[in-house]
Amino acid sequence: MAATPTPDQLRDAAQALTPWMIDTLSAFVAAPSPSGAEQPAADFLEGLMQDMGLDCERIVLDSRQIEGLALFSCPCDPDGGRHNLLARHLPPAGTKGRSVLFNGHLDVVPTGPESLWTAGPYVPRVEDGWLYGRGAGDMKGGIVCALAALQLLRTLGFAPAGTVGFNAVLDEENTGNGTLATLHALQTARAKAKLTDFDAVIIPEPFGETLMSAQVGVSWLFVTLTGRPAHVAYMGQGLNPIEAAMAIMADLKELEAEWNLPENRHPAFSDVAHPVNFNLGRIEGGEWNSSVPCTCTLGLRIGYYPGMDPADVEAQVGARIRAKARALNPALVVEIDARGHRSPGCVYDLEAPAMRTLATAHAKITGQPPARLACTATTDGRHFRLATDLPVTNYGPTARNIHGIDEAVSLESMQRVTAAMAQFIVDWCGVVAA
Ligand SMILES: [Zn+2]
Repeated sequence: MAATPTPDQLRDAAQALTPWMIDTLSAFVAAPSPSGAEQPAADFLEGLMQDMGLDCERIVLDSRQIEGLALFSCPCDPDGGRHNLLARHLPPAGTKGRSVLFNGHLDVVPTGPESLWTAGPYVPRVEDGWLYGRGAGDMKGGIVCALAALQLLRTLGFAPAGTVGFNAVLDEENTGNGTLATLHALQTARAKAKLTDFDAVIIPEPFGETLMSAQVGVSWLFVTLTGRPAHVAYMGQGLNPIEAAMAIMADLKELEAEWNLPENRHPAFSDVAHPVNFNLGRIEGGEWNSSVPCTCTLGLRIGYYPGMDPADVEAQVGARIRAKARALNPALVVEIDARGHRSPGCVYDLEAPAMRTLATAHAKITGQPPARLACTATTDGRHFRLATDLPVTNYGPTARNIHGIDEAVSLESMQRVTAAMAQFIVDWCGVVAA
């Protein structure tokens, strides 16, 4: 056997492994894992990682241990004893290569009405080279790619010469506290593994085989407006908080437009069409068609640039909301609750040796250097970038309709990403005959 597998061998092996990837991802998707209730998916993955012979541990999410940390976000769900997973391939005795940690989130976003899905959201199916289901793209497919990369090397008779870690986390979609808890445990001897076990981090979020060069910051705000209820026959005596909410949202969209002006952009986002998005994702309010309503609550997601402090952004947006409410009617009562993401943006160092090795691995497999993406969403990469010295980026398969209906991941892209991850392990960690 050759000392290391060739890119051709890795590509062929990834193709041969596709049935394993489909079976594994299908079972993973069929284990529902909305944020706050990820247990079925955690159990499935823990079983798989144990079957693969990995050294597996649970890292409990305990907000009390991490609430003092700068990157903590106010939780949306009770901890409830939920746990992250950390599994490691340990290098064979006598070998000591460099190491990598793959990090991915278990949680998925709400499905929307099941009737809109071709099959149910948790009914995985394969059609025309795509595997469908909530979480197939974001991001169970990427987690399966990382595990498949190790599996693939084993089928070729190799073992990584360094530690290869697999970290599956909770609450990425609403706070990022799962990864924060993992990092804290790795840094404070609360876990068997240590942060110093790892030399590089790859997060296989589904951004089309790109390397992430930067990501925006994201804050969530819940804004409750209280007006004055009345019978609509005497509408003038009432104060309608739902109508006020519409005006406040229109005003926030003007602020969003300002932040997107070329002269106001962070340089990492100069070529992105519309980097900053303010999203009204939820609205709740009113009681009766014929009553001026009492209250209205808006669930907002505010995007912003790297370098902007989340607390400052929240204060600025909050002041804008209060000013608009006052202008509409001084009697409107405004309450703002910053629950969920308080996630600063960051710029990744793609010139770090590990990240260059990843780019080269992708090029060896695909014949093309990877494109770079300045991302208009947040990812857990910020925790590693802002709170550790570890080189990190996002690199994962192509998906479509993530957070939408009929979410799917491309199986061909999963093959390429799996082979490229295996190539990265070969080039960065080294391999030995198993
Ligand atoms: Zn994701």
